Amino acid sequence: MKFSQMFMPTTKETPNDATLASHQYLIRGGFITQTGSGLYNFLPLGKIVLDKIRAVVKEEMDNTGANELLMSFVTPLELWEQSGRASVMGPELLKFKDRKGAGFVLSPTNEETVVDIVKNRITSYKDLPINLYHINTKFRDEARPRFGLMRGREFLMKDAYSFHATHEDLVREFHVMEDAYKKIYERLGLEYRVVAADSGAIGGSGSKEFMVLANSGEDTIVVCEDCEYGANIEAAVRAKKETKNWYDLTSENVKMEKVLTEGMKTIEDVSNFLSTPTAQSIKAVIKKAIYKDTEEVVVFFVRGNDELEETKAANAVDALELIDANEEDILNASLVAGFCGPFNLPKNLTYVIDNELKDEVGLVCGANEVDYHFTGTDLTTLKDAKYFDLIVVQEGDTCSCCGGKLIHTKGIEAGHIFQLGTKYSSAMDATFLDNNGKAQPFIMGCYGIGVSRLVAAVIEQNHDDKGCIWTKETAPFMVDVIVSNAKKEEELNAGKKIYNDLKIAGISTILDDRVNARFGFKMSDFELIGFPYAVVVGKKLPEGIVEIVNRKTLEKEEVSLDEVVNKLK
Ligand code: ATP
Ligand code: MG
Ligand code: MG
Ligand code: MG
Repeated sequence: MKFSQMFMPTTKETPNDATLASHQYLIRGGFITQTGSGLYNFLPLGKIVLDKIRAVVKEEMDNTGANELLMSFVTPLELWEQSGRASVMGPELLKFKDRKGAGFVLSPTNEETVVDIVKNRITSYKDLPINLYHINTKFRDEARPRFGLMRGREFLMKDAYSFHATHEDLVREFHVMEDAYKKIYERLGLEYRVVAADSGAIGGSGSKEFMVLANSGEDTIVVCEDCEYGANIEAAVRAKKETKNWYDLTSENVKMEKVLTEGMKTIEDVSNFLSTPTAQSIKAVIKKAIYKDTEEVVVFFVRGNDELEETKAANAVDALELIDANEEDILNASLVAGFCGPFNLPKNLTYVIDNELKDEVGLVCGANEVDYHFTGTDLTTLKDAKYFDLIVVQEGDTCSCCGGKLIHTKGIEAGHIFQLGTKYSSAMDATFLDNNGKAQPFIMGCYGIGVSRLVAAVIEQNHDDKGCIWTKETAPFMVDVIVSNAKKEEELNAGKKIYNDLKIAGISTILDDRVNARFGFKMSDFELIGFPYAVVVGKKLPEGIVEIVNRKTLEKEEVSLDEVVNKLK
């Protein structure tokens, strides 16, 4: 490919809303353009990268014996009613009607479709297991589409669905998928961790996320310094829930004492604390989560913590108005959220409340140490109270696997695998005959990879202040042959020869043969776009010498013309 023939509108302008390096560079490098909120076009360069990632995903999926198919993007609402997700999915599910008034959705994922495909077509255990996947557009009407390809509304996902006769067989396939995913991220050149995850809205148990490590990641993960253990902070909350103290407050006649210890002895103390920036920020986040779907009265308790960093708190403060807590509110509250401790807590609580407790009425209590749970609340005075104890894994806690130290880090969710069980097959009445001739619902797994999100994730992990640095498997072209001055015939011819030789050697190459672009401009395009290597044909050509530039290190090396191909092989 030649620059002179290719549409790659690079620009120095950074879009106003682009805070992430990947968002900025993918737009500035001419990989993508935005067409609407959360909607992107892939320009020729971006399409090449997307296809490369897609090809790696496809190859590793095919290696496992999974079958590629293509399911329709638009699915009848009726299928979503059968599974029960038409209402559960909430506003992320975009519904619309056709001219006859029939309801449809733009698929955010395809469990319903695939169950409908397999239902009545696979009827015997003898035809199981089977794994079906496709790589196709998804649509989710995200509340906050942002960060470019990272959180689009329309995006490309690989989603696979497996069907089994036994739970053991599902677990076997789950491991096969986990291994295939590891190969995919390794081939793409990404640093990642596999973490225990919460199943979120999709449901089922046994779920793992694949987190590409990056400071800009939206997920906080807990990882061990010494072993492979890793968990999404949301899952780490739940894991501890089972192991630590569990107070059955409905049977205890407890007083509101311990809640108000640690410098907060009265409701007034709590109120005072609630007006600090720290508390305001926490309240804002939680309030948003709870009020989203319910009109419940909500009250918060916060225990002060000297180590809280006020600065971190400031962000969310102006987002929402504050809640005033007073004694009457507490007694009338149908949901009471209490939390103590450091800053990772809001997100955990937000998530758990959002996903698990939103239909419940009760007392939510978060604490990091045994003595700081809400053990002192007189629940007999709370209306219909239930109690949830959430415990958060702290940095520095001991890993239960190996005794190592747990630390928090940030990740980009690049993949997610689930053991679904019979959730969808039961709801949609999809059965097979087992070896006793008895009808059983299919036991299912599902396995997603954010293909377009990976384009952004690669750049989050591989960039500098000049632009992108693509990894070998993801680079749109491996080598950029830069003809310093394409008006000089010798330079252009030498460039063309190197370009042809590299292509013959099987190295993907692009030739910067633009006549009207100056050398400095070509170099900055090389740095911005991020091809792994450049070969600069310039002033030393008469001596038979060109320069190889390594994009990652920006180191330059002079090599003779006949060495170029060997050096880049
Ligand atoms: P997130 O927590 O980031 O919202 P999710 O848990 O809702 O993601 P899944 O339902 O697990 O997403 O979908 C499988 C994969 O699809 C995710 O692991 C992610 O890589 C990708 N993905 C999900 N939502 C988006 C989006 N809005 N834009 C791009 N990729 C996405
Ligand atoms: Mg989501
Ligand atoms: Mg998620
Ligand atoms: Mg997920």
